[in-house]
Amino acid sequence: MTPTLEIVDLVKHFGPVRAVDGVSLTVGVGEVVGLVGESGSGKSTLGRCVTRLVPVTSGQVRIRGRDIALLSRRALRPLRRDFTIVFQDPSSSLNPRMTVGDIIAEPLRLHRLGSAATRRARVIDLLDQVGLPADVVRRYPHELSGGQRQRVSLARALSASPSLLVADEPTSALDVSVQASVLNLVGRLQRDLGFACLFITHDLASVEFLAQRVAVMYLGLLVEIADRAELFAAPRHPYTQALLSAAPIPDPAVQRARRRIVLSGDVPSPVDPPPGCRFHTRCPVAVERCAVDVPPLRPVGPAGALVACHLVDDDGTAPEVSAAMPAPSLGS
Ligand code: SF4
Repeated sequence: MTPTLEIVDLVKHFGPVRAVDGVSLTVGVGEVVGLVGESGSGKSTLGRCVTRLVPVTSGQVRIRGRDIALLSRRALRPLRRDFTIVFQDPSSSLNPRMTVGDIIAEPLRLHRLGSAATRRARVIDLLDQVGLPADVVRRYPHELSGGQRQRVSLARALSASPSLLVADEPTSALDVSVQASVLNLVGRLQRDLGFACLFITHDLASVEFLAQRVAVMYLGLLVEIADRAELFAAPRHPYTQALLSAAPIPDPAVQRARRRIVLSGDVPSPVDPPPGCRFHTRCPVAVERCAVDVPPLRPVGPAGALVACHLVDDDGTAPEVSAAMPAPSLGS
């Protein structure tokens, strides 16, 4: 079956900044793929390229088999109903001068879907699906709480029944108390409606909750792609191991017993990324070769995982990065 999203060798440079530098990733029909990485990894830029909010430098973005990467705005317009994005901060993505009803109905109007009466009925139905009462239809975004506004964003994003939702940190601007309920809602809507989802976040717990597969991004490149259970049980790339070691665990005893791998230094500048493996300036197990040879993202192990690290064997055996290891020994 044709995947809902196929990203092929996608590149996005902002002048000298190599934000995304050759990324390939697929999201199958009805699949949720989590895209994780620190800020500055390029993950949000990738989401914006996929939804064509920023122009793509090169590569392909195939949505249900059709490459939209370089289509003109005009050619793109009728296809836009099929993919959509929800942002981190609902207050800046909702038009403050429009009522909730008009906001949710806007994609239906733009794509001339249904009559005014069927659109009104669809808005009420969507409000119900996202857990909001019908009477918010006449309210304005500023009259709602942050969690309610994000529910409106989701209703708007899903109103034209897209096959792909890109969710860019959809809960991180919300109060901790409402994050879980919005995350639950995204999961329930995804299961009920069956759209494919690229879920972009730095929060590994939400990826573990929602995603079937996980892609890890570092400095414009993917370094590991694996099934969720496999990745959380046995991360292979040293960067993934470090990320997971830093993620909070709900059980305080396990949390106390665990040793966090502290990476030295900041993410290097994407203007002048390190040669060889881009992670070598921070990798606790780097060897001489890492500063010279670029490790390709290649299949390892029996379950179809992809990892870009010289020290991971073809059978999937990976170097164990321990918390006690010293800072990287190689310069940039
Ligand atoms: Fe570390 Fe080398 Fe593997 Fe890169 S290729 S992650 S520097 S061991």
